[in-house]
Amino acid sequence: MSHYILEPCIGTKDTACVAVCPVDCIHPTKEEDDFEREEMLYIDPDTCIDCGLCIDECPVQAIVPEDEVPPDQEHFKEKNAAYYAKKQN
Ligand code: SF4
Ligand code: SF4
Repeated sequence: MSHYILEPCIGTKDTACVAVCPVDCIHPTKEEDDFEREEMLYIDPDTCIDCGLCIDECPVQAIVPEDEVPPDQEHFKEKNAAYYAKKQN
């Protein structure tokens, strides 16, 4: 299980969630080279411990646990994971 960042982050991307994550699995941060290039932030599903701390930080309710991803945003699960798969290459 993991939490995922969904469509509302696009255009908001304020990084409020980054600071509260105890396992540093939300990227890119403002300090990273690809921050400007990416349209949103992503959660690493292999690292997220499902603590839920990031949920209340988000001003646009973009973060949900896996079992609350709405059907029309299912593709954001792959979009989050793909960001980290790309980083490993
Ligand atoms: S649920 Fe917890 S571990 Fe997962 S991204 Fe949010 S703050 Fe980080
Ligand atoms: S707090 Fe919400 S809008 Fe801001 S970067 Fe995190 S997921 Fe995106």
